[in-house]
Amino acid sequence: MKLLTIIGARPQFIKASVVSKAIVEEPGLSEQIIHTGQHFDANMSEIFFEQLGIPRPNFQLDIHGGSHGEMTGRMLIEIERVMLQEKPDRVLVYGDTNSTLAGALAAAKLHIPVAHVEAGLRSFNMQMPEEVNRILTDQMSDMLFCPTQTAMNNLAKEGFLEKPVKILNSGDVMQDSAMLFARHASRPAGFGIAEGFILATLHRAENTDDPIRLRSIVDALNTIHRTLAPVVLPLHPRTRNMIVQAGLVLEVNLIDPVGYLEMIWLLQRCGLVLTDSGGVQKEAFFFSKPCVTMRDQTEWVELVEIGANVLCGADSGSIIAAVSDRVNHVVHDSGCLYGGGQAASFIADCLTNS
Ligand code: UDP
Repeated sequence: MKLLTIIGARPQFIKASVVSKAIVEEPGLSEQIIHTGQHFDANMSEIFFEQLGIPRPNFQLDIHGGSHGEMTGRMLIEIERVMLQEKPDRVLVYGDTNSTLAGALAAAKLHIPVAHVEAGLRSFNMQMPEEVNRILTDQMSDMLFCPTQTAMNNLAKEGFLEKPVKILNSGDVMQDSAMLFARHASRPAGFGIAEGFILATLHRAENTDDPIRLRSIVDALNTIHRTLAPVVLPLHPRTRNMIVQAGLVLEVNLIDPVGYLEMIWLLQRCGLVLTDSGGVQKEAFFFSKPCVTMRDQTEWVELVEIGANVLCGADSGSIIAAVSDRVNHVVHDSGCLYGGGQAASFIADCLTNS
């Protein structure tokens, strides 16, 4: 079974790292990797290959920038070329980025079966580029690896049980990654802030591309940093550009994006996570930290239901109130929501037998 994996963005490197390790251990499975180039800065891409031992990509497409349509279209052309040349038995895609959609679409048009890791997640907000990508990718996949029971239920509601596809609750590969790499956590170079800081991330288009939301979030971060606890923000390159363009000033501890081992170190020592990331919401939970999410919806509803995460949108007052209410609370991960770290081996096993 010859697999062709498509990755291109930071969260995909983290997810693929554990699945690729499990694939290597499966006799009868071989993997080739395409890196689309969607994320290309050394600290958004190369560092993850080095730290997490991801096999070197067989194909580097170097496609980034431009509009969503342009980026996805260019990826589609190049990925199809590789597929025609390599003739894989199956294509493996992760998550919800433009690389995911381009990979799944190229495969579907060539009648190559597609396995989707992180299938079935929904925010029910079609304004999010990720929601469009994940819905279309699910439609083109014949193996749907759902990270949660909620994701399974979403697919059932959309009629997937009547289709000739496999829908499997694999658990979440991000829990595998968090558990595997936790013991290798590493202090970011030069980091000297005492435990209990607020670890923030900010990069969702709905926040960065809307000047009103962005200003309100920047105000909240500055106030929290001044009055509650130091805010540490590894700033996504896109957000950095948007903040400069909007003429805003972030008066918090800004650091460059860190590697995954450094991110885990920060997660282990912070007093609260304040984020609009998908993955970081769960990582807060894996490391027993309360989370405040600067979004109006989340795909990870189970964390809101058990009180580990709260949605506060982009309103400055709501963000400040939610953070002051929850900072330094301890959250308990019962180990059952996300599969407990067995997802990657389950997925590799299913791929072998597909
Ligand atoms: N991450 C990282 N370094 C950083 C910020 C985030 O390694 O400076 C990791 C984070 O721990 C998580 C992943 O990147 O595993 C999440 O990626 P991101 O927030 O970019 O994407 P999303 O999950 O929202 O799709």
